[in-house]
Amino acid sequence: MGGPRLVLLGRPGAGKGTQAHRLSDLYGVVHVSTGDMLRDPQSTITAAGSAARAAIDAGELLADDVVIALVGGRLAQADVVERGFVLDGFPRTVAQADALADLLAPGGVDVAIELDVPPEVVQARLVGRRSAAGAAGRPDDADEVVGRRLKRHDAEVAAVADWFERRGLLVVVDGMGSTDEVTARLRAVVDRAIASS
Ligand code: AMP
Repeated sequence: MGGPRLVLLGRPGAGKGTQAHRLSDLYGVVHVSTGDMLRDPQSTITAAGSAARAAIDAGELLADDVVIALVGGRLAQADVVERGFVLDGFPRTVAQADALADLLAPGGVDVAIELDVPPEVVQARLVGRRSAAGAAGRPDDADEVVGRRLKRHDAEVAAVADWFERRGLLVVVDGMGSTDEVTARLRAVVDRAIASS
């Protein structure tokens, strides 16, 4: 009944997207990325000129109710229900974590993994991502926005990590090293979580 239910936490630039993609291949789970959903040109939430679009470009969080409705809709779809999921970019606030628990009740997530990469390393990666992408890059990877996103992220996600920690669901994984090394660490954690669920 249903596949693994995984949450990936970690700073922007910590490699969540890359690793979520790999977990999706390895375990057959659906990669649910709120950032990707919101950046989708078809997204009605972030249509050109909308307040949501402006918030994203400025590196600010969208309102909880908007993002909760988006994720709630996705998690209810048949592929996610059948195959399970790896959530990337959600929950970002305690209100979102509470909402996720409600959405999944009476079950819950198998494990929340925090991909740990030091702030100075992700800062350098994000600035690199911006210059590699040139004019086509994400506006929220701009230097001044990156610093703001990181500070805000650390304050908010500390509370979310704490939320999972208090429920015995948080595992912190070293996000430094090659992509393969990090994937191997994640696999060990996910295998253990699945075995004990
Ligand atoms: P990300 O790609 O996960 O860094 O998300 C890009 C941007 O989308 C964020 O800076 C926010 O503006 C918005 N966003 C993504 N996920 C959330 C969320 N869970 N809550 C609020 N805003 C979000």
